[in-house]
Amino acid sequence: MNELTPLRTGFSACPHDCPSTCALDVEISGNSVGRVRGAPGNSYTAGVICAKVARYGERINHPDRLLKPLSRVGGKGGGGWREISWEDALDRVAEEFSKAEARFGAESVWPYFYAGTMGQVQRDGIHRLRHAKRYSGQFDTICTNMAWTGWHAGAGKLTGVDPREMGVSDCVVIWGTNAVATQVNVMTHAIRARKERGAKIVVIDIYDNATMKQADLALKLLPGSDGALAAALMHIGFRDGTADRAYMARFADDPAGLEAHLSTRTPEWAAGITGLSVAEIEAFGALIGGAPRTFFRLGYGFTRQRNGAPAMHAALSVPTVFGHWQHEGGGAFHSNSDIFKLDKSLIMGSAMRDPSVRFLDQSRIGAVLVGDPGALQHGPPVTAMLVQSTNPANVAPEQRLVRQGLMREDLFVCVHEQFMTDTAVLADLVLPATMFLEHDDVYRGGGQSHLLLGPKVVEPPAGVRSNHFVIEELAKRLGVADRPGFGLTERDLIDDLLQRSGHGTLKTLEEGRWADLQPDFEAAHFLNGFGWPDGKFRFRPDWSAAGPNTPPASVGPQGPVARLPEWPDHAGLDEAADAEHPFKLATSPARQFLNSSFAETDGSRSRERRPELLMHPDDAARLGLAADDIVSIGNRRGALQLPVAVSDSVRPGVLVHEGLWRNSDFAGGEGINLLVGSDPVAPSGGAAFHDTHVWVRPVAASSGMAVEG
Ligand code: SF4
Repeated sequence: MNELTPLRTGFSACPHDCPSTCALDVEISGNSVGRVRGAPGNSYTAGVICAKVARYGERINHPDRLLKPLSRVGGKGGGGWREISWEDALDRVAEEFSKAEARFGAESVWPYFYAGTMGQVQRDGIHRLRHAKRYSGQFDTICTNMAWTGWHAGAGKLTGVDPREMGVSDCVVIWGTNAVATQVNVMTHAIRARKERGAKIVVIDIYDNATMKQADLALKLLPGSDGALAAALMHIGFRDGTADRAYMARFADDPAGLEAHLSTRTPEWAAGITGLSVAEIEAFGALIGGAPRTFFRLGYGFTRQRNGAPAMHAALSVPTVFGHWQHEGGGAFHSNSDIFKLDKSLIMGSAMRDPSVRFLDQSRIGAVLVGDPGALQHGPPVTAMLVQSTNPANVAPEQRLVRQGLMREDLFVCVHEQFMTDTAVLADLVLPATMFLEHDDVYRGGGQSHLLLGPKVVEPPAGVRSNHFVIEELAKRLGVADRPGFGLTERDLIDDLLQRSGHGTLKTLEEGRWADLQPDFEAAHFLNGFGWPDGKFRFRPDWSAAGPNTPPASVGPQGPVARLPEWPDHAGLDEAADAEHPFKLATSPARQFLNSSFAETDGSRSRERRPELLMHPDDAARLGLAADDIVSIGNRRGALQLPVAVSDSVRPGVLVHEGLWRNSDFAGGEGINLLVGSDPVAPSGGAAFHDTHVWVRPVAASSGMAVEG
């Protein structure tokens, strides 16, 4: 950085797929981005952000950034490219989409997107083109479905206690989220409670990760067993008289029915399922029974399994049994999705949506692209795609099918991206995309309550264009630019969104930087009632009730819905270890990566060192393995090789791989999601990323494998 150029501070918000949605102060010199810091004036961010975003200059100035449109030369995935102009590139996309439409109908075009940016305009504008052209819909399933369905089944809406109240709790339970790695601000508020009030921090997870190392009580349970732990905690409450019967009589549907159901869900029963000791379960039950200000911060991690929705519902039932909701610093939080009430109809072109157009399951992209009739909803094949802000060849389950599908010669794929991702390398056309500091957008918290403006603070490189630009230019070429929502700037659309949603204007948000939409105490603690018509929490959920991720009617209920439990319980739907597959594998998030983002920066790669497999010393000894030995790990979906990191951070029989590393970082060029199933999880669909049974076979002694930074 030129030291003579004066520094200025740009204001922004983190666009990445992280519940924290931090408010950012960005150091700028000329048109260069330097250090990024958390905004101290934002009461949730509180001046703290993760290290990977603090180093953002490294990402935005990365020498491997895509800077020109590229057209494939030679076979798919062969690595041959030639530069073309933006005009020619956009003409080609429009021509291929029109050809596909003429041959098989508009549904043969599938615009595919996700959370590479969480900006409301840049992420969701792709729907405007989709609806205007009647292209195939996307049934979003890859992230929230089990968590949100489980929460909604109990509470009736996706809101909860202000997460800043963790700072005034006496016991903070961090359940199924490695917050140190994935949403650092949770730790800010939890540790404040410990420092100022002597609060206990309880961490529940399947391995001894960085968050568990901060715990006063660490509960390392077996994958998929969270529902059993929750049931036993409630059993203890009823048994010991610490359950709040007066609260439940007012605020819950059937406490007597629940108590009867839980009579057999003893700590001994739960110990047999969770792998925890009876003493650990009893200690936890006693702790929360004696601490009215117990705050449950329920994460996504423990729901990314086939028991996920019932597990979330069971965990959420615990503070209801104990009446924690009534107290400041008590209750539970998962997502604030329902507080924002954003009307994105103009951005998304909602008025143009034709309800007869099919939806294709995002998580089943592999099955869709290889022509599975069910996955295609018995409609035409997908023969043309625009992929924005996601990297399905790396992040989607059943990776071998995804890559096989993307390699089809009769499929045209345009990928609009920041880097040459695992998906981009398989494309026909690659367009370079802006990063968040180079375009205007607006963001909302998931794990907190702010709506934040993220204005453009630097100019993008000359050949790079925003998602919004691409959608607008394709609309012109495809003859729909005169339809509602097109022809506006990003700032116009932000202003429209804010005004329609009753959140002021672009000008007012610009003046304030952010707006805190936290509901008042009574509403946040459900003291005016839960989200159901009678205001009562549902211990006995109706799994068929409409919720935030209810599949479209044409898709219908997903997975083995008939086997979902009637009460909070261990569902037993997970992909169990068996004689052929004696290990359970979880694909957990690495601290320096965020999904597949940051797997390209040297700062993140050198800190994560290499892709590896955490294995307990007893398992390693049984298989005759030493640290760094290479193993083959597999199941019916495929196999890949990894070095072993021998560690008692995992339990015997459990394996953890932290990622997401690029596919090309693995010896065979296939990444970890090769092993993960795409069978839909009940009842709303979703991918069970942490619920995979595998075998492990020794391959070779240590190769010294490490990834170059
Ligand atoms: S990735 Fe998460 S913790 Fe890091 S800056 Fe972004 S919102 Fe904050």
